[in-house]
Amino acid sequence: MSTDTSTIVLIGHGMVGQRFLEALAERGLTGTHRVVVLCEEPRPAYDRVRLTSYFSGTSPEELSLTDRAFIEEHGIELYVGDPAVAVDREARAVTARSGLVVGYDVLVLATGSQPFVPPVPNKDAEGCFVYRTIEDLLAIEEYARRSTTGAVVGGGLLGLEAAGALKGLGLASHIVEFAPRLMPVQVDEGGGAALLRTIEEMGLSVHTGVGTQEIVVGDDGAVTGMRLSDGSELATDLVVFSAGVRPRDQLARDCGLSVGERGGIVVDEQCRTVCDPRVFAIGSARWPPTAGCTAWSRPVTNRRRRPWRRSPRTSRPSPERTCPPS
Ligand SMILES: Cc1cc2nc3c(=O)[nH]c(=O)nc-3n(C[C@H](O)[C@H](O)[C@H](O)COP(=O)(O)OP(=O)(O)OC[C@H]3O[C@@H](n4cnc5c(N)ncnc54)[C@H](O)[C@@H]3O)c2cc1C
Repeated sequence: MSTDTSTIVLIGHGMVGQRFLEALAERGLTGTHRVVVLCEEPRPAYDRVRLTSYFSGTSPEELSLTDRAFIEEHGIELYVGDPAVAVDREARAVTARSGLVVGYDVLVLATGSQPFVPPVPNKDAEGCFVYRTIEDLLAIEEYARRSTTGAVVGGGLLGLEAAGALKGLGLASHIVEFAPRLMPVQVDEGGGAALLRTIEEMGLSVHTGVGTQEIVVGDDGAVTGMRLSDGSELATDLVVFSAGVRPRDQLARDCGLSVGERGGIVVDEQCRTVCDPRVFAIGSARWPPTAGCTAWSRPVTNRRRRPWRRSPRTSRPSPERTCPPS
């Protein structure tokens, strides 16, 4: 490859990262650019939305969203299991955990989100899990073999999915939800009551209106229960936190890009970061989440930076639209 070929570096090979690569290929840009992908997980992109189907027999390979042929055909340099650890925007270079340093002309951050784990005591104890990756599910499956009871913190859609999965693994399954009903964001009181009946009929135990105050551990440091905000203790061998997600924006913060008040890499309507015209953020790592719904796949062809359009209601850009001092 000639050294004057311009380089696109993609950090994160998740669902949106893979879609981005397909968009590059569709536009012929993999033929005209060097494309380098740093993938943190030990496997290329897969269908995270269908993650739970692993427990009903779908293999990790069947969940895969790409294959060697696509990567090779388009000459993509994919580094699996090698996350980016630093971005030097001045030198326009990304360093990976392995020590690999890749220069870029265009950098695309597709680092996704991570589960929010409430800061309760012993949240990292043996037997505590999150529900986000194939590796999380493999670890839960393994631990469930020596468990009889599991509890999920969070009664949202994903929490219910996780609790159903624990039941499917043969555990007595509990859901602990701080709000007075399950799926509080999606359903009203009546809907919550109907949902509760359905979930209980499926054999799951629901505890609403209580928070998790502490994960209780035994002498060996492994989970034995949860202390709840009403003073009760729920005996459990395994805990899955499913209390929402947060954008993975640490890399962006560390290299001085602007992030939203509640996290997320701030971009304009074309998914270009507001601080650096060469850096883009796509997928669930970006803020606002509606940015570039159709335009995110065009970052390379559209090099002209569009000025930030001010809302008619605000005469100045919000603090999120300004860049942190370097
Ligand atoms: C069980 C489950 C069910 C879901 N169901 C739905 C649904 O029904 N509908 C829906 O709209 N959404 C659903 N979602 C959410 C959906 O999966 C996400 O919105 C989607 O995956 C976002 O894609 P993404 O590429 O932005 O992020 P991700 O798919 O999270 O991918 C980001 C990737 O970046 C990697 N990464 C992070 N930091 C680095 C780094 N420094 N270097 C290299 N790589 C890095 C991560 O390891 C990850 O592989 C579900 C999620 C789960 C877990």
